[in-house]
Amino acid sequence: MQSGRGNQLELLASEVAGCRACPRLVAWREQVARERRAAFISEEYWGRPVPGFGDPDARLLLLGLAPAAHGANRTGRMFTGDRSGDFLYGALWRAGLASQPHSRARGDGLALTDVWVTAAVRCAPPANRPAPQERDRCLPWSVRELGLLSEVRVIVCLGAFAWDAALRLIAAVGGGESALPRPRPRFAHGAVLEGGRYALIGCYHPSQQNTFTGRLTESMIDGLLQRALALAELPRAPHDSSG
Ligand code: SF4
Repeated sequence: MQSGRGNQLELLASEVAGCRACPRLVAWREQVARERRAAFISEEYWGRPVPGFGDPDARLLLLGLAPAAHGANRTGRMFTGDRSGDFLYGALWRAGLASQPHSRARGDGLALTDVWVTAAVRCAPPANRPAPQERDRCLPWSVRELGLLSEVRVIVCLGAFAWDAALRLIAAVGGGESALPRPRPRFAHGAVLEGGRYALIGCYHPSQQNTFTGRLTESMIDGLLQRALALAELPRAPHDSSG
């Protein structure tokens, strides 16, 4: 049965999916959905803002940049239907946080435990680059989402954009810039910020530019997730993925 928190997150998801606050991103997400990539020409793209997804009682939150044009903007679920998602959900499965190692479509049976996956900007941006005003316009959705996810203790920031967005988010929920240390801590893979209500941990984004070049390997993300789980006081045995 869906918990009260789960119901509220579903209501938020339907509100998010109707947002049209950023004219440039609305035009782009819908153009991509109309034109489609040849490999997906017979599919109906989602073409709307993509809500967060996961366990309403999560202690870990994974924060990405924005939906990929032919990934989440096509399937309607974060990191679903592209190589970044294959890499990320494979890691979540090995860490015991996902019920299966792949994420192909909404309704594919994937369930997450102790983790919520979302992005700083909820609409696919051209060239994966949201404008600062678009990032700021999307922040209130993150504030409401985090407000409902009251068990979250650790935010895994997938890339420098997400790290910066998480600092803004912490400032927004914690009463302003004074909630942040000075100087602002910089993003690095493995960087940790502790001391407030939320711990932040930086992780290279699981984009193909990073995973195909070996900048981010499976063992690197596995180690980072184990660190995040320890910070969230969620020890668990990783899956044996050898069989
Ligand atoms: S990026 Fe965020 S604020 Fe802008 S249209 Fe999409 S959901 Fe709305």
